[in-house]
Amino acid sequence: MIEKKGSTPVMRQFWDIKQKYPNNLILFRMGDFYETFDEDALLSSSILGITLTKRANGAASKVPLAGFPYHSLEQYIHKLTKAGHSVAICEQVEDPKSVKGIVKREVVEIVTPGTSISEKFLNRGENNFIISIMFSKNNNGIAILDLSTGEFITGCLKDDEIFNTILNYEPKEILVSDSQKGQLKKFFKSNKYFISTSQDWTWQKDFAYSELKNIFNVNSLKGFGIEENINGISASGSLIFYLKNKLLKKIDHISSIKSLNNNDKMIIDPSTIRNLEIFNSLNHNKKDGTLVKILDKTITSSGSRLLKKRIKEPLTDSTRINNRLDIVESFIKNEFIQNNVSLHLKSVSDIERIISRIAALKSNPRDIKQLSISLEQIDKIKNLFNNNGKIFKKISKEIINLKNIINEINHKIIEDPPSSILKGRYINKGVSRKLDEYRQLADNGANWLVNYQLKQKEITGINSLKVGFNKVFGYYIDITRIHKDKVPENYIRKQTLTNSERYFTEELKSYEEKILSSEKMMIEIESQIFTSLCNEILKNSKKIFHNSKIISKVDVALCASFLAISNKYTRPKLLKKPILNLINSRHPVIEQLLKEDEEFVCNDISMSQSKKQIAIITGPNMAGKSTFLRQIALIVLMAQIGFYVPSELAEIGIVDKLFTRVGASDNLVAGESTFMVEMNETANILNNATKNSLVILDEIGRGTSTYDGLSIAWSVTEFLHNENGISPMTLFATHYHELVELAEKLKKAFNLTVNVKEIDDKIIFLRKIVDGGADKSYGIHVADMAGLPKEVIKRANQKLNSLLKKDSNIVNEKISIENTINKSDENNYKIINEIKKIKINELTPIQALSRLNKIIEDIN
Ligand code: ADP
Repeated sequence: MIEKKGSTPVMRQFWDIKQKYPNNLILFRMGDFYETFDEDALLSSSILGITLTKRANGAASKVPLAGFPYHSLEQYIHKLTKAGHSVAICEQVEDPKSVKGIVKREVVEIVTPGTSISEKFLNRGENNFIISIMFSKNNNGIAILDLSTGEFITGCLKDDEIFNTILNYEPKEILVSDSQKGQLKKFFKSNKYFISTSQDWTWQKDFAYSELKNIFNVNSLKGFGIEENINGISASGSLIFYLKNKLLKKIDHISSIKSLNNNDKMIIDPSTIRNLEIFNSLNHNKKDGTLVKILDKTITSSGSRLLKKRIKEPLTDSTRINNRLDIVESFIKNEFIQNNVSLHLKSVSDIERIISRIAALKSNPRDIKQLSISLEQIDKIKNLFNNNGKIFKKISKEIINLKNIINEINHKIIEDPPSSILKGRYINKGVSRKLDEYRQLADNGANWLVNYQLKQKEITGINSLKVGFNKVFGYYIDITRIHKDKVPENYIRKQTLTNSERYFTEELKSYEEKILSSEKMMIEIESQIFTSLCNEILKNSKKIFHNSKIISKVDVALCASFLAISNKYTRPKLLKKPILNLINSRHPVIEQLLKEDEEFVCNDISMSQSKKQIAIITGPNMAGKSTFLRQIALIVLMAQIGFYVPSELAEIGIVDKLFTRVGASDNLVAGESTFMVEMNETANILNNATKNSLVILDEIGRGTSTYDGLSIAWSVTEFLHNENGISPMTLFATHYHELVELAEKLKKAFNLTVNVKEIDDKIIFLRKIVDGGADKSYGIHVADMAGLPKEVIKRANQKLNSLLKKDSNIVNEKISIENTINKSDENNYKIINEIKKIKINELTPIQALSRLNKIIEDIN
């Protein structure tokens, strides 16, 4: 129950509104300020760093208060939503001048972390997603929406898929029904996400279906390919209802929905994305040293968003991958086009976000001008493509001609418009006769008066006649008393002064009315023209989005082409059978980060699922094992998003799932130990990999004792190798050089090692991957190089020697027991067969005795 402090009418109005929107921070418009009261004020002053004061409401009650000027709204809303709050904007919905007493106020919009569309404060090139989920055992409906770009996707996912999808999309807000909130909390133990709820009935299929039909203005959803996805429809429709009715959003720009289709996408789980340092580095969660930092040389914001989306969802369909690669190749082969398109793209703004702001009635003239400049650039690219080769021609044809809308904007909006409509003066001359008149009045007021004064002097013959203006009486004609007789009949007396009389005429009065209202009228007419132009643009929003999507794809392909040239990448060859051949391959990130005097050492790999399925890579720490493993995973990923790759030759069998188990990272948030995380990741791989998957294992069993660890590593490898099981292509780096022996035993496993040179007890890393296994770990060498005191190194060597002795006894013993068991298995089998063959009724007693004797001999 809310305690309503303060007894003034305004405070009563505030509490009424707060009661309606109890879970929101209310920004209460008062004149030129947004004020927050009571607990909201405490919150906002601490988040925004604004002064907290007290509002005296009557003698007794004092209510905390904190406010900020209205023009800072966008900035402060962003800070509040970023801090995880839902903010209700409460405006004055009447003109204060025209009402007596208290102005009517209403909440006009609610902004939540997942529904902000602020241009200034959303990260360029990143999405701002809200996700809604309808839980249903292994058939969960999901809807993913970026309100700032209009991107809307729906799908039906299994429990583990939904978990991964949420981690991958990193939504700023998750919506569930009131009754499923508990379920979501069980699913996600952390408080990472801002959770919103809506009433259960809005999730009913029929209701949700009709919400979607209405927003898309269609009779059925068949055209979107989502009809079968009942829970997805519930999630999408209820999300639309939530935005429209609960948050009061204008969402006309959401014009279509896509199906989240995972069938043709490579599955990369969130831990692989983390392990491969694709978006954030493992060390500091920063962007430096990540794949995306190296690859994202896109020019436009939407291109940057598309690239990130593609990195999260590489393709598995070779035709689609090759189509992407074809465009990249065409750019590489045509430097002229490459440079020109790049030039045009530099003037393309974030079209999707501009359209979203137009739909939300939050755009300004500068936005619109930038839209037309952007559309013009796209048109230029269309022309450029049309004259150059088959692939470009095809893209050119796909780009819709939007000259009408460009012309319309250019005709109406001036060359360099302001970013606010408040002061007008952004509409071109010649658009509206009335507007031009008003503007002329406002601009040429002084001229008109000079002319009018001249004319009146002529008419009256009074040389001292003056036309003037004061705030109280407005415009007047001032005539000194001595000329009183010459005053014409149409002059009407306005004011008497000591030495002169002041008059006005009908003409001057109507001019006065015009001039005083002209500024106001000018602003109003401009705003009408602006609104109708915005509506016109919105009518074309589907086409504009279409062109923007194409241009994002062009941007990504262009980026890939520039990278291919500057970093010497080659076009990968994608194959349907599971093989992997890389010659002189490099790690795309590390090769860029090496110092000038360092050179990246290229490496090869040749594998096939049927013959060379498991590579066991041994070698000392710091030799370059992890780098090699990751570079292979990254090259496969780059190839399947349609990029050229850092390898002289790359033949890649298309991978359906990419798994990595790298390093030992503590998942402290989930409260799991390092070893537990390691085992969870390993279990995930063993349970989900297929023959077409690629598995990268960088150390297994490190987080436990040596023998435990070695045994787990051993049995995991055997499991992956199992012919009848999943047997995916696997690269396994380990410091357990005992596994070298395993590779020799398993038919499809082979050993690789990283070359090191040993000189005078020191080692030099050559970084070259070669056939064969490491014979020792060199751990003490590395410790020596790291600067451990000499006596520690000496003692460690002594200890190692004694342990090795023990160890070799254990290993020998183990091998001898294994051999014994294997041999005895074989003998037993032979003996049983012998006995089975005996037909006892056909033997004489002597013969039976001699057979028995032979069996006894065989056993011994
Ligand atoms: P390991 O996994 O064997 O402990 P890393 O792969 O972490 O070793 O490599 C250690 C460091 O060696 C890397 O950080 C990198 O700077 C450098 N390095 C690795 N591979 C290469 C290479 N092929 N060429 C040049 N430097 C490399």
